Amino acid sequence: MKTIFTSIFSAILLLTASFHSEAQVIMNRDAVIAEAVSAISVSHQKALVHDLVGFHNRNNLSSQTDPNKGIGAAAEYLYRKVASYIPESEGRLSVEKVYYTVGGPQSRLGREVTLCNVIATIQGSDKTDNRVIAVLAHYDNRNGEGNDSTAYAPGANDDGSGIACLMEMARIISKIKMPVTVQLMFLSGEEHGLFGAEHMAALAKKENRNLIAVINNDMIGNSNASETNTQTNTIIRVFSENIPAVETDEMRRIRIYNSAENDSYSRQLARYVKETGERYVDNLLVKLIYRNDRFGRGGDHTPFSKQGFAAVRICEVNENYDRTHQYVREENGIKYGDEIWAIDFEYVRKNTAMNLASVVNMALAPVIPENVKLSASGLTNYSLITWDIPGKGKQPDAYYVLIRETDQPNWQIKIRVTDTQVKLPFSKDNYFFAVQSVDSQGHESLAAFAYGGR
Ligand SMILES: [Zn+2]
Repeated sequence: MKTIFTSIFSAILLLTASFHSEAQVIMNRDAVIAEAVSAISVSHQKALVHDLVGFHNRNNLSSQTDPNKGIGAAAEYLYRKVASYIPESEGRLSVEKVYYTVGGPQSRLGREVTLCNVIATIQGSDKTDNRVIAVLAHYDNRNGEGNDSTAYAPGANDDGSGIACLMEMARIISKIKMPVTVQLMFLSGEEHGLFGAEHMAALAKKENRNLIAVINNDMIGNSNASETNTQTNTIIRVFSENIPAVETDEMRRIRIYNSAENDSYSRQLARYVKETGERYVDNLLVKLIYRNDRFGRGGDHTPFSKQGFAAVRICEVNENYDRTHQYVREENGIKYGDEIWAIDFEYVRKNTAMNLASVVNMALAPVIPENVKLSASGLTNYSLITWDIPGKGKQPDAYYVLIRETDQPNWQIKIRVTDTQVKLPFSKDNYFFAVQSVDSQGHESLAAFAYGGR
C-alpha cells in the first residue's frame, strides 16, 4: 500500500515540476526537510496571529510597560514563545532581546525611544563553520496614522504573517541538527524607517559576521488584491536587487565585462529560494521580481543589502491597500484594516514551507566553492570553469555546474562534477555559468557565479 502511494506521489511531483520549467525535473526531496515542512501547523500560526492582534497596537511609540497592550507586551510575548521551544532543542536554541535607541524631536518618531529586537539563534553544530543564515520579519505595526500609538491597529498581515512564519520555523528547525547557525530576527522599528534591521545589519558588519543569506518576510498572508479582486495563493514574490547597493568601481567594471547585471549575490539567493521552495512545496510558484522592493516602499532586507549582504524580500503577489496601514472601519461596503479574517492561512503555510525548505537545505549544505572562474581568454567553443575547494566548514562531496543561456532567468542545466574544474562544449559567449558545492544527500550551497577576466 505504501509503495503504491509513493509511486503515485512521485508521478504527481513530476507533473508539478513540468509546469514550472521547460525540461522535466527529477524532484529529490530530503526526508528530514520534507518532514519538517509537513510539521508546519496552520492552527499554531492562526493562534500566534490572534495573540499578536490581541496587543491592540504595536506602534513603535506604543506602551512599553502595559502588560497586555503595546509593543513592549508584544516583545515579551515573542521572547517567551521562542523560549518555550528551548527544552526540545537539545541545547541548540537560545533567545535574546537586543535593545537600541532611535528617534528624537526632529525624527519621524518625534521623540527618542528604546526598542527591542527579539533574536532567536539556532546554533550550528560545526564549531569550525561560522556561516549564519538570517530570516527576518517585523512585529511593530501601524494603522492609518504613523504615530497613532493607541487606536486599534491589528497588523495581522503586516507583519503578523511574517512573524507567524518565523515562529513556526523556530519551533520546527530548532529540533534539526545543522552545521550552520540560523538566526530568526523578530524586528521592531520597521514602520518608522527600518531601524531594527539597520541596527542588526550594522552589528553584523561591525562584528564581521559570515552572514551568507538574509531572507525578509514582510506581508506573506494576503491573497486578495484590492480594486482588481485578483485571488492568488499559488504564487509568491521574491524581490532582489539587480545591481548591488555596495557596488564599487572595480565591481562595476567586472559586472560590465561579464554582462552580469542579472547575477548579483542577492539574485543568486532569490534563485536558490525559488528552486528549493518549488522542490519542497506543492502548488506554489516562486516568482522572481527584478527589483529590490516595490515602488515607494521599503523593507528590512534593504539595510542588509546596504551592508553588502545577500538579501531578498518575500512578499505576497496580490497586495490589498484597503487592509494595509488603514484604520479598521467600514465605508461604502468596503472593510478597511489589517484584520485576521482577511489572512489566507494556507498561503502563510506554503510561504513558511518555502522559507523553511530553503533555509534548512542551505544550512545542511557544504560551503560555497571559492575562486570560481571562467577562462575568458582564447578563441574556443569550449568553456573552462575552475574553482577551489572551500577552505573551511563542511566539505563538498561534489559540485554542481549550473548553465543557462544569456536570455534565460533561471539555471537550465545542472552537471555534477567531482573535480575542481570542468571543460564543457558550451561557448562562453552564449551561456552563463555558476558552481555550487553539494553533499552526498544533495544539499547544495548558494551558487557562485563564474566571472571571466583577470
Ligand atoms: Zn511591513
